[in-house]
Amino acid sequence: MQVTIDEHSGFCFGVTSAIRTAEKELQNGALCCLGDIVHNGQEVARLEQLGLQTIDYDDLRTLPCGSRVLLRAHGEPPSTYWIARRRKIDIIDATCPVVKKLQDRIRACYELHKNDEALPPQIVIYGQPGHAEVIGLQGQTNDTAIVVESADQLDRIDMTRPIYLFSQTTKSVEGFQTLIEAIKKAISHQSPAVNFEYHDTICRNVANRVQQLQDFARSQDIVFFVGGKKSSNAKVLYNHCLAANPNTVFVSAPEEVESLQLSEFSHQNSELKVGICGATSTPLWLMESVRDAITAIANKQS
Ligand code: SF4
Repeated sequence: MQVTIDEHSGFCFGVTSAIRTAEKELQNGALCCLGDIVHNGQEVARLEQLGLQTIDYDDLRTLPCGSRVLLRAHGEPPSTYWIARRRKIDIIDATCPVVKKLQDRIRACYELHKNDEALPPQIVIYGQPGHAEVIGLQGQTNDTAIVVESADQLDRIDMTRPIYLFSQTTKSVEGFQTLIEAIKKAISHQSPAVNFEYHDTICRNVANRVQQLQDFARSQDIVFFVGGKKSSNAKVLYNHCLAANPNTVFVSAPEEVESLQLSEFSHQNSELKVGICGATSTPLWLMESVRDAITAIANKQS
């Protein structure tokens, strides 16, 4: 049996940088993180062992003055900074620079058009409602932005008013193209003269992974996709992996491998190729533990 970890899987640079910042800042004393630093329970637990305390918005409002709070890679709406300033909380901003740039673009667009009273414009975000990054993006528009998850939700947009479309960084390029075409079609039916601007703000760090991940999945007999149950990126990438190789199994921890039947594949190929890959929120050490669990099972079965 050959077990290979996909070299393109694992943390993107935004998440890696936020974790490094947390590790560095923990050496200077107590540190809280607003929300899970990454959508991976095991990595959160590892950092909590080092002293990182995960808090929510209610906690933020009651933290003592002088507390230090890290903002994760997803970014935050302006209201978080206001609360921190009012409560004299020391912010350590680990927002990914790609997300920060997107926030700035959306805010600039909102500021430019917010007073167009004759035809009030709409800022539309192609994203997952309630996702931390999307909340941060909506905040740049005083929460007026419309969030659309797919082309099935066009009824949320008024096709007779100007539309400025952006994307959450982790959405799929294909889905974004489908949405653009659907909006263009709806406008052409209802109000052909309306202004429609769209900005592809998808992070290529994630978008490029789909092809790489699918190529990797196709080259394996069975694939273990390692990801957090709460991670939307993990769900998206897992589905791409599954499309490329139906023998793809989602696992969150090495213990979940125990119950899987590696042996049912072994008869198909004397040199069974087992691939391990993961999401942008999956730490390398977790993929390595899954590899070790698989190797241990294979050794027991041989
Ligand atoms: S996926 Fe891209 S935008 Fe999102 S945190 Fe990672 S590097 Fe930044």
